[in-house]
This record gives sequence, C-alpha cells and structure tokens, in this order.
Amino acid sequence: MNFVGQYDEEVGSALKAECKRQRRNLELIASENIVSEAVMMAIGTVPTNKYAEGYPGKRYYGGCEEVDVLENLAIERAKKLFGCDHVCVQPHSGANANNAVYQAFLKPGDTVLGLDLANGGHLTHGSPVNMSGILYNFIPYSVNEEGYIDYEAVRALAKEHKPKMIVAGASAYPRAIRFDVFADIAKEVGAYLFVDMAHIAGLVAAGLHQSPVPYADVVTTTTHKTLRGPRGGMIMCREEYAKAVNKAIFPGTQGGPLMNVIAAKAVSFGEALKPEFKTYQEQVLKNAKALAESLTAEGFQLVSGGTDNHLMLVDLQNMDVTGKEMQRRLDEVYITVNKNTVPNDPQSPFVTSGIRIGTPAVTTRGLKEEDMKVIGHLIKLTATEFEEKADEIRAAVNKICAKYPLYEQTK
Ligand code: PLP
Repeated sequence: MNFVGQYDEEVGSALKAECKRQRRNLELIASENIVSEAVMMAIGTVPTNKYAEGYPGKRYYGGCEEVDVLENLAIERAKKLFGCDHVCVQPHSGANANNAVYQAFLKPGDTVLGLDLANGGHLTHGSPVNMSGILYNFIPYSVNEEGYIDYEAVRALAKEHKPKMIVAGASAYPRAIRFDVFADIAKEVGAYLFVDMAHIAGLVAAGLHQSPVPYADVVTTTTHKTLRGPRGGMIMCREEYAKAVNKAIFPGTQGGPLMNVIAAKAVSFGEALKPEFKTYQEQVLKNAKALAESLTAEGFQLVSGGTDNHLMLVDLQNMDVTGKEMQRRLDEVYITVNKNTVPNDPQSPFVTSGIRIGTPAVTTRGLKEEDMKVIGHLIKLTATEFEEKADEIRAAVNKICAKYPLYEQTK
C-alpha cells in the first residue's frame, strides 16, 4: 500500500483508509473473510499481464506455459479438497459460475426450482431482476414457519412443475442443507441437481457440512467466503459434464481468465488442505453458536431459533428497529453487518426487518466464544440504548480489535 501511495497518492490514501477500517471494525458480514497475506500478495502478481483464453494445454495465446502450471495447481488442489471429478477454476465470480451452469444445462424458458430470495436464496437463483429469472422459468420454494427448508413442499413443487433443474444452496440460510434429500427429489422427477455451496464451501472442505459433491450433477462456489480465498468462483462436476461446463465459461460467458486470481485460488486451496483449516472452521461454528446463544439471551429472535453453520439471521421485529437502521447504527459503532429480509418480511428489501451476521472473518482474526458473548451484548445495546451508549460500545469494540491485530506485516 505504501508503494501504491508513493506512486498514486489518491488511490494509496483510499487503500490505507480501507485497511484502517478493516483493522478498526468487527467484520460480521457472513459472506466476507480475511485472506492470508500470501493469498493477497498472489493477487497482485505478474499473471495479471497475461491473456490465457482456453484451458491448460489448449490456449488461444502463446506464452501460456507458466500460467498453465498455476491453473493446473488450482485444479488439482480443488479436486483433492472436494473430491470431485472435474473443476473449472476460471469463473470470475459466483454469479458468473452460476450463469455458466445454466447455460451448460438449460435452454431459455426451461423450468427450474430455486430458493426464494426473500427466504434466503441468492439473486442468481431465479430473482426476476437477475438474468437467471429473466431467461429461465424459475419456480421459488420457501422455508416453513420454523425457518427450515420445507423438503416435502419442494418435492410437491417438483412433482407439479417437472423442472429440468433444482437449485439447492443459499445466501442467508442458517441451517444445514440436506443435499441427499434434494438428490432424491431431483431423481424422482428426472431433474438435474445443481448445488451452489458458496456460503458453506469452507465447512464442506473441512468435513463439517454434508458435501454436495456425491449428490449433485454440478456444484458451484465462490472462493472468497468461508473458503477464504480471493474473490472469485469455481464449478465442479462429474466428468460427463466437464466439456459442457468448460465451454459455458469460455467461450460461453467469459473471455480471458484472471490468471493472477487463479494463482491466489491455488494458494488458498493449499491452505484449505492443511489441518489448521479444519480447526479454523470448527472455531467458525463454535463462534456462531456462541453468538447465537448470546443474542438469544439478550432477547433477540433468530430465524429458525439458531444456527447450524457460520451465520444467523436476526429478526428485529421485537426490537422496534429496522434492518436498515440497525446496520447504520452498527456501522457507527464499528460493527459491520448487512440488513437482510426475514421470511414474510413486512418491510421492503431496501429497509428489511433483519440483519444477517456471520463469524468467518472475526474467527480468522482470532476471536473466540468469550468475545462472541460480549459482541451479543454490544449488539443489544446498539438496538436499545444506542444514543446513550454509542461511545461505550465503540470503546468495547476498540478493545476487542486491539486484542486481535490484523495484517501486522501489511504496510
Ligand atoms: N451464490 C451464493 C449462494 C451467494 O451467496 C453469492 C454471493 O453472495 C453468489 C452466488 C454470488 O457471488 P459473487 O458475488 O462472487 O458473484
């Protein structure tokens, strides 16, 4: 950053300010994490200069022999991590990975089941404002009164609509997902099963959530959430779909791959193969449980009553504050979350009645269960006594952040 700052003062100072913010704030956005310095450095390396359209050994440009090594490393490590037949590490993002899957398996107008956005699904699972919902006939499924995916309702919808594909996976679902049950339903109606495991990929890699790989025809993930790699996407599938999947990424939906990011993906997969990664993911789960317990003890209502994974959804309707306002207040006391709709939310998606909270980033920073207890209390003070207690909350956040310094070697 110092180097960039000396070269370009305006960009350098914005970068420094963002680093300061990350050091100062408790990062509780469930889809974020903190990459290692090795992963971050790999992103800023020479393959950013390289065009490498195509795949290792079959490129459309000369000079690809070294980037082939990088892409093969990422592929082999991902295969080892998830036990899949084929991997495409080129998607620039999770959304790109999903779009390519649809292109590989569907024709415009085909019927697909996906979890409703307002019930925890992702935009790319059929939202009418997203390309997925515009091109394909998505039928949304929901969670039940208790906040759990209603598998019998999914089965009934599948029998009624005979979809070509069923999408399983979520952005704001705090419970374990039964990919085996989804596979049974898909089989019963002759549909493809597509699992988007973006949020839980790190837990899956560590063996702490059922893996979708044995059950699904195709699996996508982002690489930057619980998996703790650079921002990007990835597609895994059985060998029989390998050609179609690769083709749907290039030339189907993308041009040249970001080879510097692929290098960083390889580094992060190498990290995820180490035993420490499992210990980290275990702590992510312990911290999520501890925070859910603390919030519940403080009087908050959690959708589904708790969490099985790295995130929880707090329904704020009994606290007399909207998700939007709570996000704003928490920003002011250096706690970062995102507003989120809750099932049957009376507020608009821009206002919302909830917030989503996750533990991957604070766990990377080193926080433990006792810190979660304190954070639950600070969130309560923010909801109920914000005006009077803002300074006190900020001081408590500063104290926790000072205890767990971030990027000490980064200048
Ligand atoms: N799929 C799921 C389940 C997600 O939660 C997200 C992002 O939050 C995506 C896909 C999209 O990933 P990206 O932002 O990299 O396009």
